[in-house]
Amino acid sequence: MKGRLAHAPEPDRYAVFGNPVAHSRSPGIHAEFARMTGETLEYQSIESPLDGFACCVRTFMAGGGRGCNVTTPFKLQALAIADECRPHAAMAGAANCLKFEDGRIIAENFDGIGLVNDIRRNLGYEIAGRNVLLLGAGGAVRGAILPFLEARPARVAIANRCADEALSLKAAFANLGAFEASGFDDVEGAPFDLVVNATSASLFGQLPAIPARLFHHDTLAYDLVYGKGLTPFMSFALTSGAGRAVDGVGMVVEQAAEAFAWWRGVRPETGTVIQSLQASLPQIG
Ligand code: NDP
Repeated sequence: MKGRLAHAPEPDRYAVFGNPVAHSRSPGIHAEFARMTGETLEYQSIESPLDGFACCVRTFMAGGGRGCNVTTPFKLQALAIADECRPHAAMAGAANCLKFEDGRIIAENFDGIGLVNDIRRNLGYEIAGRNVLLLGAGGAVRGAILPFLEARPARVAIANRCADEALSLKAAFANLGAFEASGFDDVEGAPFDLVVNATSASLFGQLPAIPARLFHHDTLAYDLVYGKGLTPFMSFALTSGAGRAVDGVGMVVEQAAEAFAWWRGVRPETGTVIQSLQASLPQIG
């Protein structure tokens, strides 16, 4: 019968942009979220040329893309091409997620929120009232400062290999709340209840030159890098007396869940996705 042919609607399109991007777990995570929530969408990896990120994103958007995740090295550029920046992206000075609405690009950063959600919801660790140390002063720490301060710890300190970088962050974020900044050797007020390794040292099989006095028997040591087995930081924390050491696999799934909820209006359950991702990871180092 004429005029009665029904076509299934085109699925909404999403992607992760990076260079390289083949390692990204985002397509698998979002496919699983879509299956679990019954959302119809398509999610792909796109390796953008290093000098063509903005053009690549706009082409994807013009072709019906609804949003994207952004990974290294494009997080700063992602913020720069946005028409509107949400507070966490603006504070971090970088975006890991974009939403396209009426031809406009809206930028958000869910890395820090994903980290705090993993610690509180999945690890059952309440940050309020605790002494927290963040190691590093790069994009991950910038994105974590506001979510950590919002979780009302007793105290936040930031220590970086290059102390000047930590001091610059303290000056740049002074309006958000009080936190201390230093190099690794001159961290004051140790030990800490929670020590987060947000340096990239574990990616290269290295240990940041931190003292053992940072840890006590009840310290949660958290490394943003993830894989099978212990990172050098996790091993050092445990041999220095920390009660527990975990990696960042939960963070990557939690930030993805925040992005999915922002795009689709439904928040997926993360527990089983974390478990299956964990099982498929390669050995660290
Ligand atoms: P950046 O490149 O912006 O910053 C790197 C930081 O690591 C700097 O503070 C640098 O210190 C420090 N660093 C590098 N090597 C060493 C070393 N050998 N010893 C001590 N410090 C070192 O990276 P990001 O902040 O974007 O990311 C940090 C890590 O977090 C990466 O490994 C990344 O993969 C991971 N990550 C994980 C996520 C997850 O979902 N699990 C999400 C986002 C990031 P200096 O200033 O002195 O050079």
